[in-house]
Amino acid sequence: MKNVRVRFAPSPTGPLHIGGVRTALYNYLFAKKNNGTFILRIEDTDQTRYVENAEKYIIDALNWCTIPFDEGPDKNEKFGSYRQSERKEIYKKYAVELINKGKAYYAFDTADELNFHRKDHETKGKTFIYNWHNRAKLTNSISLSKEETNKRITNGDKYVIRFKMHDSSKGEHGIIATTDIIRGHVSFKTELLDDKILFKSDGMPTYHLANIVDDHLMEISHVIRGEEWLPSLPLHIALYNAFDWKSPEFAHLPLILKPVGKGKLSKRDGDKLGFPVFPLAYTNTETNEVSRGYKEDGYFADAFINMLALLGWNPGTEQELFSLKELSEVFSLERVSKSGAKFNPEKATWFNQQYLHQKSNEELAKLFIPILEKNVISDEMKQSQNLNRLPHSYAPRNEKELFNIDYVEKVVSLIKERASFVHDFWNLSSFFFVAPTEYDAKAVKKQWKESTPSLMKELIPVLEEISDFTSPNIEIIIKEFITSKEIGFGKVMQPFRLSLVGALKGPHLFDIAEMIGKDETINRINKTIEIL
Ligand code: GLU
Repeated sequence: MKNVRVRFAPSPTGPLHIGGVRTALYNYLFAKKNNGTFILRIEDTDQTRYVENAEKYIIDALNWCTIPFDEGPDKNEKFGSYRQSERKEIYKKYAVELINKGKAYYAFDTADELNFHRKDHETKGKTFIYNWHNRAKLTNSISLSKEETNKRITNGDKYVIRFKMHDSSKGEHGIIATTDIIRGHVSFKTELLDDKILFKSDGMPTYHLANIVDDHLMEISHVIRGEEWLPSLPLHIALYNAFDWKSPEFAHLPLILKPVGKGKLSKRDGDKLGFPVFPLAYTNTETNEVSRGYKEDGYFADAFINMLALLGWNPGTEQELFSLKELSEVFSLERVSKSGAKFNPEKATWFNQQYLHQKSNEELAKLFIPILEKNVISDEMKQSQNLNRLPHSYAPRNEKELFNIDYVEKVVSLIKERASFVHDFWNLSSFFFVAPTEYDAKAVKKQWKESTPSLMKELIPVLEEISDFTSPNIEIIIKEFITSKEIGFGKVMQPFRLSLVGALKGPHLFDIAEMIGKDETINRINKTIEIL
């Protein structure tokens, strides 16, 4: 394949929606697969929609997703600035070049005049389109003489530059056709299209002009972007033709759809539907409204990326779990589907769960420790550095640690199968760190009988006797105790679990007892007898 150079070209009008992240990801994967270059270009020519912190958000999001750009703002700037607002001098000359070639024209129509035409058409049940069939009747360099046009320009009259989309006088056949890598053959009738503005009266290019000039100057080989840009394709191709430039290849990605019902998953859907639509949390500086992000909701970046990759692309096999590196090896645009991809929030959770299960206990323990600190260590304990109140088995081994990491790793190994997120760990394992303070009422009613306290009191000396306080050993001895009493196992096991955990949940009970240690086990039984 030719030298592959692709770009992600967001407009900094707010946070990136997951659809935008997926566009960036597919560009990144396509570049890596083909030993190409992934470029970030900030398309900020529309000053009215510019949002101050959006560029930083976009870059932070790409970095969190571990899909950094090779060239972009302030990085490997081989092709000049990658912010269009810093390239604005470049565009005018191209618009003028098209005028000189007879492919574009100056238009002086005021906003009021255009509004008048729009309203007038509306009352007749028609739509006003500025194009070949009326341009000769409107106020522009086609209808005005050369002298009048020049006079208006030197007078400082406001004008825009419009593209001559369809030229009936030249007997054009009026069809623009091309092959989109995803959609196949696409064609458009130019006579139905309007004469789009290329250059605005504020001295800025429109998206269309800046976008294709930059794609040309930055030697972009493939344009991979969302389906919402498909209607712009005929204009872009017509512009490449008008400049006599070779056009890049195009691939228009399918929409990401709402989980239920019809329609595109929009920026506003997120918090409304109960899941994030942004990679990172975002605070709107005007309204102070905060939107959730995948990162802050506890997703691993690799799980998020894996989930997004399969939203519109499939590997052609049953495989669902792919590292970024694997994706870069197998990705192809030919396997991107034409039809929209329904977003499935449960599936997103499933991906995170799969990644969590694959991660090492050590990595997970390190992520869990800050949560433990918040829950277990009171401010008072932190200040006095008096962590001795932690039961010995999970108390720190040295001054640098707040928790014994080996202990936390062991806890993680016992509970991770039941978790989808690291923030699930605390609920699944709090009893490994603190004695229960509450007891599940339903369970107490069912399992803590009148005879239970005396039975539990009998159990305590049995536990005290155990010198090798390990799970298998505790199990043998307690079972012997139960058999000798000639009672059902549940009579002892359920109250025992209630005492250690506070509820009838959690991993293997004897593992818990071993982990918290003999003293803590006995303390908890005593405390439960007292409270219940
Ligand atoms: N600036 C456009 C956007 O915000 C770029 C579209 C394109 O990739 O051509 O998505």
